[in-house]
Amino acid sequence: MNLEAKCTLAEGFSVWEKAWAQLSFLVMGALGTVGIMLTEWPWVFPYIVIYWYGVPGIVMRHLVCPRCPHLYVYGDCLQAHPNLTRWLIKKRKGAPLSNFEKSLFCGVFILIPIYPLFWLVSHIGLLVAFSIAAGAWYSGQLLHFCKQCRVYSCPFNRVPLTRQASSV
Ligand code: SF4
Repeated sequence: MNLEAKCTLAEGFSVWEKAWAQLSFLVMGALGTVGIMLTEWPWVFPYIVIYWYGVPGIVMRHLVCPRCPHLYVYGDCLQAHPNLTRWLIKKRKGAPLSNFEKSLFCGVFILIPIYPLFWLVSHIGLLVAFSIAAGAWYSGQLLHFCKQCRVYSCPFNRVPLTRQASSV
């Protein structure tokens, strides 16, 4: 085992890391939903599919969480209580994400911050709050969590191949 790799890759997550990831993600989704409903409520249904169903029902149930060592090896989860995540997961998977699964994952996480903007521009206060929450979540992921994540086949993962190979 390479001790240096072990130190830099996450096992579980601190309370503050979970608070940052969970709060910013929930606020982003809630403000996006409210912004659409306040402007043109029929257009909220695609966002319900993308965010409120897409994240637990596709991303967590079928894509990254079934392959997550943080959950299955270290018993922890960044985005939800581990028991809730285990309940959501259809079945554990060993194989890396397929190209189709990676496209689905990217589609969901590109649409989540982009789709509501069309309606949020009519509510500047909501738009600013939404942008802060979205910025907090995506910067937290890409600048911190994804650099130490053990779900190597996730499209967001930023752990260099050399450290993936040397980590156990
Ligand atoms: S990939 Fe792992 S840490 Fe991230 S939400 Fe899923 S189980 Fe939790």
